[in-house]
Amino acid sequence: MKTVGMVGWRGMVGSVLLERMIAERDFEHLEAVFFSGSQVGQPGPQIHSERRPAPLLDAHCIADLAQMDIILSCQGSAYTRAVRPQLAAAGWDGYWIDAASELRMREDAAIALDPVNRALLERALESGVKNYIGGNCTVSLMLLGLGGLFCGGAVDWASAMTYQAASGAGAAAMREMLAQMGALHDAVAADLSNPAAAVLHIDRRLADCQRSADFPQSEFGAPLAGSLLPWIDGEMPGGQSREEWKAAAETNRILGLTGERRIAVDGLCVRVATMRCHAQALCIKLRRALPLEDIEAMLAAQNPWVEVVPNNRTASLAGLSPAAVSGGLRIAVGRLRKLQMGPEYLAAFTLGDQLLWGAAEPLRRLLGILMRR
Ligand code: NAP
Repeated sequence: MKTVGMVGWRGMVGSVLLERMIAERDFEHLEAVFFSGSQVGQPGPQIHSERRPAPLLDAHCIADLAQMDIILSCQGSAYTRAVRPQLAAAGWDGYWIDAASELRMREDAAIALDPVNRALLERALESGVKNYIGGNCTVSLMLLGLGGLFCGGAVDWASAMTYQAASGAGAAAMREMLAQMGALHDAVAADLSNPAAAVLHIDRRLADCQRSADFPQSEFGAPLAGSLLPWIDGEMPGGQSREEWKAAAETNRILGLTGERRIAVDGLCVRVATMRCHAQALCIKLRRALPLEDIEAMLAAQNPWVEVVPNNRTASLAGLSPAAVSGGLRIAVGRLRKLQMGPEYLAAFTLGDQLLWGAAEPLRRLLGILMRR
C-alpha cells in the first residue's frame, strides 16, 4: 500500500479534500500520514473509527516527509517553495501533488485537471514527471464548464470577468467575511427591528461601520461584506492582477497549447461576498458561428458534471447561483446567447464550487490515478 503524506489538511482546500476522500473511501486504499506546520504532536484527524489518530508529524521535517511515496500538500506556495527543493536535494523521488501556484508553470510539473487533460497527464506520467499541481480555481472551473468549446478548438479568444468567493482566499478570510457581515448587522440591528426607521439612516450606519477603524479587515485589507474587491492577488506588469494573468497562462498550459495554437484569455477578476463558488461571465469569440443548439450539446457532452441551464429567468435564478451550486460537484453553465456583436460572439455564465472542482477534486482524482498505476 502506498504511503501518502497529507499536509495542509486543516485549511479550506484540505478540509474539503479530506471530506471527499472519506466520502469516496479513498483511505481504504492508502496509508495516510498527517503532517502539520502548527500543531505538531497533536492528534491527527479521525479517519478510521477503529484506530486512534496518530500524532501529527512536523510538515517541515524533510526526513519524515522523505519516507512518503506521495506527498499531497494543500498548503500555499510558500510551503512548496521551502520544502520541495529540500526533498529533491535529499534525493526523494516520490510524487508531489499540491494546490499552490509555485510549480504550475515549471517544465517538470503538470497541471492536474483530468476530465480536461487526461491524455496530457498520462504523457507526463509516462515521461517521469513527478509534480502534479492543481490549477487556478477559476481557470479549472472555466475549462470544466466550457471544455466542450475549448477542447474542441472552437474558441478564438475569451474574456472572463469573475465573481470569486471569499473562501478562495482561505479559511481565515472566510471567517473574516462572516465577522464583517456580523459587524454590519450589529450596527443596524436596532434600526432593522424598528419598521419606522428610515432606510437612508440604516444605509449611512452601514457605510460608517464599513469605514470605521475597528471594522475587521486584516485578511482582505478592505471591507468585502456589503462591498466587493476589484483586485485579487499581486500585481503583474501591464496592469493585470496575478489572478488575471493566470487565465491565459494556465488555460494554455492545461490544454497543452503553444505558439500559434494558444488561445487569448483575459478579463478582470473580482472578489464578491459569497462563501463558496467562483462564478464568471464570459464573452467568447468563436472561430465560426456555431448554432446555439450545437454549442449546448458540445458543452453538455464534455464531462458528466456540466449542467447546461436554459437561458431564461426562472431557470437562471433557480440553478445558476452559488446558493444553488455550492457544496456539490455540478458545474452550471447558462446565460448562453449570441451577443449583439455578431453570430461568432457568445455570452456564457458559469460557476462551480471552487473548493471542489477548483481545488480538492482534481488533486483527489490525480492521487487516484497514481494509486492505480
Ligand atoms: P488556508 O485555508 O489558509 O489553509 C492553509 C493552512 O493554513 C492550513 O492547512 C493550516 O495549516 C493553516 N491554518 C492557519 N490558520 C488556520 C485556520 N484558522 N483554519 C485552518 N487552517 C489554518 O488555505 P487554502 O484556501 O486551503 O489554500 C491552500 C492552497 O490552495 C493555496 O496555495 C491556495 O492558493 C490554493 N487554492 C485555494 C483555493 C481556495 O478556493 N481556497 C482554490 C484553489 C487553490 P497547518 O495545519 O499546517 O497550520
